[in-house]
Amino acid sequence: MKIAIYDPAPLRNDYLTVKYLEPMIEYGKDSGRDIGKITSFDGVANAHILFCSDYYTPEIGEKLKNNNNKIILFDINDSSYINNLTKLQAIDLMFKFSGIQQTRGSDELRISDNFEYTKQERYFIPDDVEWAAYVELRDSGRLLPMLYAPFYHCEVEHIPYEQKNKKAVIRGGHHYLRYHLFLNLLKHGLINEDSAFMTRVYFSDTMDERFKYCPECLSAFKQFNKIPYSYYKSHQRWGCNNPHMDWQADELEAGFFQNHGNHKWNNRCVPSFYKLTEEFEKNNGPVDWPLVENALNGEFIADEEFYKIINGNLLYGDYKWMFSVDIPPRFWQAASAKTINILPAWTRNQVQVPFLVEGDHYLTFEETFSDIDKFNSITKEQHDHITNKCFELYNLWINHDKYKAATHLMDHIFNNIESI
Ligand SMILES: [Zn+2]
Repeated sequence: MKIAIYDPAPLRNDYLTVKYLEPMIEYGKDSGRDIGKITSFDGVANAHILFCSDYYTPEIGEKLKNNNNKIILFDINDSSYINNLTKLQAIDLMFKFSGIQQTRGSDELRISDNFEYTKQERYFIPDDVEWAAYVELRDSGRLLPMLYAPFYHCEVEHIPYEQKNKKAVIRGGHHYLRYHLFLNLLKHGLINEDSAFMTRVYFSDTMDERFKYCPECLSAFKQFNKIPYSYYKSHQRWGCNNPHMDWQADELEAGFFQNHGNHKWNNRCVPSFYKLTEEFEKNNGPVDWPLVENALNGEFIADEEFYKIINGNLLYGDYKWMFSVDIPPRFWQAASAKTINILPAWTRNQVQVPFLVEGDHYLTFEETFSDIDKFNSITKEQHDHITNKCFELYNLWINHDKYKAATHLMDHIFNNIESI
C-alpha cells in the first residue's frame, strides 16, 4: 500500500505539519511503510492520499477517485464544525480535530435581564440536509475524532492530593462563558490568585489596532500598570466603549447579558467586565473584589510557571463557546500535571479519541452552574482515580520520544488508513 501525503509549501497549518504529518512520514518509513510526500495531485494513482481538508474540493475528489485513490482528510479549524458537509461523498476517511457530536443539539446557557441562568437546546447543525450528511459520514465510520495534542511535552512535578490547594484554576482569554464560570466558582470559594484572564496583551504596542483597548483604558493602564477596580469606580463615565453595547447606560438594554452571540463580550475592555461583576454581585451576593481585580489584569506566563500553577491546584476549568474543541491541548496539559479538568455538561455529547468517560477522565458542571458547589467536596479517591487515568492516556497517546508524536497515536492513524 502506498501512502502519499500532500502538504505543499507554503504550509497550510504548521501545527499539523510538525506534530502529525512529518512524524508520520518518519515513523511510517521506520516501520517499513511505503510512504512519502507528493507536491501535486496530478498523475497519482492507486494510493492512499492524506491531506488537510482545506485543499479538498469535489473536483479534486473526483480526479483522485478516477485514479483509484483513497482520500483521507485531516480537518482542523478550532471547532467541531465541518465545512462543505454535503460535498464530501468522495472521501474515504476524515480525522476531525475535535470530538464527534452524537446528539442533534446541546444545551446552551441563557442569561436573562435579571441575571437568571437557564438553558436551551441549540442544534449542532440546524439544516436537516447537512445534519443528515454529518450522520451518514459519522455512522458509516468515515468520520473519526482526532486528539489535539499540546505542542510541547513538559515533565511536570506531581503534587499529592493532600498538598494541593482545593481550588479551580481558570486561565485564558476573557471569553464570556469562561468569565461566568470564574464568577460562579468565586461565589463558591473555589478561586484563588492563580486564576487570570490575559487582558494585558491588549495594552501592548504590538497589538493589532482592531483589538487594542480604548484610549481611556490605555491611559489608566499606563498610570497604574493595571486597570484598578477603584479607578473604575471613580471613572464610570469615561470614553471607554464597546461598539456592540452600552455598558455605561443607566438602564441596561434588554438582552444585555445574553450569551447568544457572545462575541460582543469576548476580549473587550476590562471595565465592562467590572460592570458585569457588579451586576452579578447584585444577584448573587458579595464577591471578592481583590481576586476579581487580580484575575482581570492577567498576563501570559511561561510554560514552566503555568505548570506550577495548575499542578498546585485541584481543578482546571474551562467553558468556551458551544461546539468549539471541547478537549483542546490545555486539557492534556492539565492531564500531564495531574489536575482534574472540569468542563460543561455538553462535553459528554461528543465522542473523543482517546475515549473519555465523564467521572473517569473529567468532571462536568451544569451549563447553568447549578451544581458548582460539588467541587468543594472532591475526595482523594476521586482525585487519584481521574488524574491517574488521564495521565495514563497522556503517556500513551501524547508523551513522545523519538518522533514528535506518540507512536501509539500514529499507529491509531495508520491502522485506520490501512483498514479502508
Ligand atoms: Zn476601554
